[in-house]
Amino acid sequence: PEYLFENNPENALISPDHSEILQSQLLCAIQDLALMENEGFGSLGSEHIFPYLQVLLQEGKIRKANDRYICAPETYPAAEVSLRNLSSQVEIISNNEVIGTVDSSSAMWMVHPQAIYLDKGDTWQVTNLDLEHNKAEVKTVQVNYFTQATRQTFIECKNLLKKENCGGSDKYFGQVTVTTTITGFKKLRFFNQEVLEWVELDLPPTKLETIAWWMGISPQIVDAVKEQGLWNSEPNDYGKNWQEITKAIRKRDGYRCQHCGTLEKDITHHIHHIIPFRKFDNPEEANNPSNLVTLCPKCHRLAELTVQIQNGITATGYLLVKLAPFFLMCDRQDLDVFCEDKSVLTQNNPIILIYDNISGGIGLSRKLYDLHTQLLEAALDLVSQCPCKEGCPSCVGPVAENGVGAKEYSIALLQELIKNLPDR
Ligand SMILES: [Zn+2]
Ligand SMILES: [Zn+2]
Ligand SMILES: [Zn+2]
Repeated sequence: PEYLFENNPENALISPDHSEILQSQLLCAIQDLALMENEGFGSLGSEHIFPYLQVLLQEGKIRKANDRYICAPETYPAAEVSLRNLSSQVEIISNNEVIGTVDSSSAMWMVHPQAIYLDKGDTWQVTNLDLEHNKAEVKTVQVNYFTQATRQTFIECKNLLKKENCGGSDKYFGQVTVTTTITGFKKLRFFNQEVLEWVELDLPPTKLETIAWWMGISPQIVDAVKEQGLWNSEPNDYGKNWQEITKAIRKRDGYRCQHCGTLEKDITHHIHHIIPFRKFDNPEEANNPSNLVTLCPKCHRLAELTVQIQNGITATGYLLVKLAPFFLMCDRQDLDVFCEDKSVLTQNNPIILIYDNISGGIGLSRKLYDLHTQLLEAALDLVSQCPCKEGCPSCVGPVAENGVGAKEYSIALLQELIKNLPDR
């Protein structure tokens, strides 16, 4: 808990000269009180705010009357400015009535077409998402499932601003473009989360220009953790009747890869153990149909890699993005995390990247760059002191999300990273 109470509150960040914040705050200020032509705004001189005023004039949000700027009539700008973050809200509409809102940055994720929207025990299905007008239309439905979108995220570095070696890892800070595409969604049965159907969607990608802190984990660190015997792959002997079992499971899953949706063609799909085979005492339990899933060879290879390396990294990413708001005194939604077992941003090494989930960025991840060491130490503290066995929402995330063993991988990874810091 020390990091909570001994933390310097000066780490709390707000960047009033960030262009989008400035523009909307300026507009609200003018609504309250007309701004004189030569007047500054806060600590900013009149020449600094002049370009912003021009934009507001152009957009018809303010107008000039003699030597002062006033708000255009019938606007109430404060209603359009969300204090929590900058993106606007998408209204959820049923029969011309607004029943809720979501941030436009999460709209694709939460209220994509056919998504099930849950609100106060009611279930609604999205019939139309109109991002141009910030509207999602829904209708009431009675269903036995909820939906979970699958997304592909692609991160491009626009401008690397800082880089430093920290022993077993390199830390980076720079401007990035985050491109997210919702590729489809799964229908999951309420309560047991069984996958009922996989639906493909063809939606345009969304782009976010922002700033990010990231670290690349060196191959030596990965090897050191591997040597601890944690990242073993599955054995090949899956017990008797394995052939019959695989046939039955492929049939059950409609000969479709349950991850990407590809239908089996020339090459037989694989059967993968959701909880690794080696974790069970007897093959009967391991081969229980509920633990088996059909995957195409490509997804299976990825799943195994995921099981071995990604689990530990994803779990650590979950942990870091959960901790970061305490250091930065921001909202969890203001940050997002991206993990991959290899990335061009880190010379093909595993990456953990945290970005400002706000267009343009407001300096949160810049601070993380400076807090790199403290963040890793606090993460190890938290995860090793968490009383859970295999991971939980308070540390590395629930087992169902990160897989069995994620917690031990995460601890091992953090220990190696900290042990190899240059000042140790
Ligand atoms: Zn697949
Ligand atoms: Zn497998
Ligand atoms: Zn835990």
